[in-house]
Amino acid sequence: MGLRGWPELSPFAVMWRRRWGCGFLLLLALLLLLLPSGHPPQQAEPASARDTARQQQEERESHQGGHLPPQHSPLQLIPLDSFSADQFIVVTQRAARPRRRAYRLLRAAKRSPEAGGESTRLLLLDPPPPADRRQLERQGLQRRGFNETVSESISLHRRLPEVRHPLCLQQEYSQNLPTASIIICFYNEAWSTLLRTVNSVMDTAPKKFLKEIILVDDLSNQGHLKASLSEYVSKLDGVKLIRSNKRLGVIGGRLLGAARATGDVLIFMDSHCECHNGWLEPLLDRIAHDRTRVVSPVIDGIDWKTFQYYHSVDPQRGVFNWKLDFHWEPIPEYEQKWRTSPTIPVQSPAVSGGVLAMNRHYFQNVGAYDPGMLMWGTENVELSLRVWLCGGSVEVLPCSRVGHVYRKSVPYSPPYEEIVVKNKVRVAEVWLDSFKEIFYKQDMPSYLLSKIAVPDCMERLQLRKRLSCKHFHWFLTNIYPELYLSEDKSGYFGAARQRFLLYNVGTGYCANYETKWSTGGYPVALTQCSGHGNQHFEYNNIREIRFGAMVQFCIDVNNEQVILQNCRGNRLESQQQWDVQKSGEIIHVFTGKCIEAIKNGPSKDLFLRPCNKYTTQQLWRLEKVIIANKG
Ligand code: UDP
Ligand code: MN
Repeated sequence: MGLRGWPELSPFAVMWRRRWGCGFLLLLALLLLLLPSGHPPQQAEPASARDTARQQQEERESHQGGHLPPQHSPLQLIPLDSFSADQFIVVTQRAARPRRRAYRLLRAAKRSPEAGGESTRLLLLDPPPPADRRQLERQGLQRRGFNETVSESISLHRRLPEVRHPLCLQQEYSQNLPTASIIICFYNEAWSTLLRTVNSVMDTAPKKFLKEIILVDDLSNQGHLKASLSEYVSKLDGVKLIRSNKRLGVIGGRLLGAARATGDVLIFMDSHCECHNGWLEPLLDRIAHDRTRVVSPVIDGIDWKTFQYYHSVDPQRGVFNWKLDFHWEPIPEYEQKWRTSPTIPVQSPAVSGGVLAMNRHYFQNVGAYDPGMLMWGTENVELSLRVWLCGGSVEVLPCSRVGHVYRKSVPYSPPYEEIVVKNKVRVAEVWLDSFKEIFYKQDMPSYLLSKIAVPDCMERLQLRKRLSCKHFHWFLTNIYPELYLSEDKSGYFGAARQRFLLYNVGTGYCANYETKWSTGGYPVALTQCSGHGNQHFEYNNIREIRFGAMVQFCIDVNNEQVILQNCRGNRLESQQQWDVQKSGEIIHVFTGKCIEAIKNGPSKDLFLRPCNKYTTQQLWRLEKVIIANKG
């Protein structure tokens, strides 16, 4: 409710809201008092009921404490009733609009003796030298990646406006939710944003669910984060400050915080966030019902320049592209269709790095963060993939909202570019199976790095095995099929050595070359999609489906069973020709029948059956395998 979103307000509203507690104003007032005075003061403009309410609210908030006096306030007009005996209208901004407004007031004041009368004068003052202000802002921007000057002028206890869907307000949560440890890792964070984050957690989280806030200082080297911070924190109930004696990055810092945490649920939060009322309960509630859920609030934007809070309206989910870069996107239409209520959790391929919650034990059991990943970057994609593939799930909860300052630029020096590439290569090597080739094809720096040094991922691969995690192909098929579509799959023909996985829609398995010999050739079976070479097929322009790079076999038929035989080439009436339909059927040209996956003893084999487009076991997708030329 009390958002200080001044861009939407007129200069006059700003004037009314900022009457008290502004050092710059007082200075100006003193100056003005030295000038000749006449009639008693009048308000420059009557405040509307809305303005007054807003003003009162504003005053209440600024008295809540922590509101630093802005040194370079965006004030444009000085309210006349601040000065008991003057008749000036003061304009500190020479821009056209406030000036026009001031002249209008002047004319009105001159006409009315009560409002100042004939002798009212207009005083045009220069605003604080813009060079200084800009310089300060520039410095802040370089150091932080956001406008620190503006951040400092905002209350450390500001409350965000209510933006939740009305149905969210009707949700009821148990009184016995698990407790939360909030872990806020920071490196050279601005005083204002860091403490606003801490305060906003304390102001919004019900005490009985808030076990602790753990601040992890990642060896910051800025003065304000030393003794002053320790002192500030020592006065806060339930807030601990851990100082690392070496740089850990967000990954190591969060691991450290998690190791010290004692709450049931860990909530990792960036050090420049603001929590919305009621943000915590939905997160805890979802995890209470299933501890393998990794949940995220809707993460709204706090503008890096104005610190205005922007909330998203449509449901969003977290995703990533083939370069493994994370972004938010609106949920797809098919998902939208079955959503019966705006309060339903949104299944999300990935969780953002900014704020996320998960059960503390589950976090450790599922492999925490990869300790082999360095500092910062792609750790959220790694965590999401791992959780999905190893039996958990990832969701965004529309009734939980937290604002995050999205920086304009990365303030770290040296920038983490190289580190991020290293992290990405690790993620690809551990989790992408043969699909890593698509990644390497799209992300050149990672490809080059992987040629120089493939990281040692043994431990993470063992973890993957120990947890019986699924293949990346499963993720592509079931959780984020759109990633596939983003790959160019144009045409099956023509592309030299274009390979595909033959993916069966009905069973979720892939055609696999079996080495066991049977009299009629090599049977083609269905097994879990691994993306390995014994699942790579090619479809050429004489309509053969070929298998293998060195020795070539073609898909053939023996007694209605689909097998691999030596290729016969383009012979008339060949049994080895297939029509791959866009709809997904693979039709045997010779018989007009379709390939169907059929249970054959313990395994699933492929047989020809009359085509029936309603049988999903007859539906196939040719999924492209990209093999980067690694020379
Ligand atoms: N951070 C840290 N050590 C680092 C880099 C970042 O502790 O070396 C903290 C940072 O202060 C923030 C969180 O990790 O609280 C995430 O970093 P950042 O906000 O820069 O990431 P972004 O939101 O831009 O992805
Ligand atoms: Mn951040």
